[in-house]
Amino acid sequence: MVNASTTVCGLLGYPVEHSFSPLMHNSAFQAIGLNWVYLPFKVHPQNLSQAVKAVSALNMAGVNITVPHKEAVLPYLHRLSTAAQAIGAVNVIVHKEGQLIGHNTDGEGFVMALQQGVGFNVHDKNAVILGAGGAARAVAVQLALEGIKGLVIVNRTLPRAQDIAQKVNNLGVKAQALAWDEQALRPILDEAHLVVQATSIGMHPQAHRSVAWPDNYFRAGQVVCDLVYNPVDTVFLQRASKAGARTVSGLGMLLYQGVLAFELWTNRQAPVEVMKRVIYGRMEG
Ligand code: NDP
Repeated sequence: MVNASTTVCGLLGYPVEHSFSPLMHNSAFQAIGLNWVYLPFKVHPQNLSQAVKAVSALNMAGVNITVPHKEAVLPYLHRLSTAAQAIGAVNVIVHKEGQLIGHNTDGEGFVMALQQGVGFNVHDKNAVILGAGGAARAVAVQLALEGIKGLVIVNRTLPRAQDIAQKVNNLGVKAQALAWDEQALRPILDEAHLVVQATSIGMHPQAHRSVAWPDNYFRAGQVVCDLVYNPVDTVFLQRASKAGARTVSGLGMLLYQGVLAFELWTNRQAPVEVMKRVIYGRMEG
C-alpha cells in the first residue's frame, strides 16, 4: 500500500505501455517487503530534460531509461559508470543526494544471462553479433569489457557495424565489421563460440520470421542467444537448437538488467526467482 513514506522509482520512455519493468519491480518490492513503488512515465522527447530534473526534485530513488531516451539523457547526468560511458547510453539512473548517476545494465544483464542460463563465461572467447543497433552496441561493449578475445559484427548497414567495431577496438579488443556476405562469414563461424542475434527480426507480430542465417552456420555446442524476447523461443533459437547449439532467450537479458537495476537502487539483493516468475508468467499469459 502506497503511503507517505513510500520511495518512488520508475521508467522514462516513449512509449512505455509495453514495458515489463513495472510488473517486475513492483513484484520484487512486495516480495521482500520494501515500501517502494515503480511507476511508468510516458515522456515526450521534448520534455526529457524536465523529466530528468524531476527525478532529483521529487527525491525519487532512480529511474530506468528506455527508447528513445537512452543516449539523449547523457547531458543531464552528473556522472556515468564505466559501462555507460563506454557504451554511450544509459538505461538506469541512480539518484543520491542530488547527484544523478547513469548506468548501463543491458550489457551486464546479457553476460549474466549467459552465465546463469548455460554456464557460459565470455572470457577469451570469439563471438559474432548479428545487428548493430542499440542492443548490439551494449552487448558488444560489455563483451569487450569482460575480456572477450574477438568480435565480428554483421549488419545490413555496414557503417553502423563499423561504428561499434571502432568502439570495441578502442577498448583494446579485436573487432571486425562485415556486411551480410556468406563467403566472408564462413571462416569466422568455425571460430565463434557465441552467436548473438541482435536484430529486431523475428519479434512479435512477425514471429514467423528469422534472420538470413543458413542452418549449416550453426555448430553443435555453440552458444546462441536471441535478444528478441517476444516470443521467448524464436524461430532462430529453434533452428539453432535443432542444430545442436545451446540456446539462451532474450528474456534472460531483460531479467538480469532489471535485477542489476533493482540492486543499484535499493542496495538489497534482488529476489531473482520472483522477478523471473512474473516476466515468464506474463509472456505465457
Ligand atoms: P535498433 O532499431 O537500434 O536496431 C535494429 C537492428 O536490426 C539493426 O541492426 C537493423 O539493421 C536490424 N534490422 C532490422 N530489420 C532488419 C531487416 N529486415 N534485415 C536486416 N537487418 C534488420 O533496435 P535495438 O538494437 O534497440 O533492438 C534490437 C532487438 O533487440 C529488438 O528486437 C529488441 O526488442 C531487442 N532487445 C532486447 C533486449 C533484452 O533485454 N532482451 C534489450 C534491448 C533490445 P540496420 O542497421 O541495417 O537498420
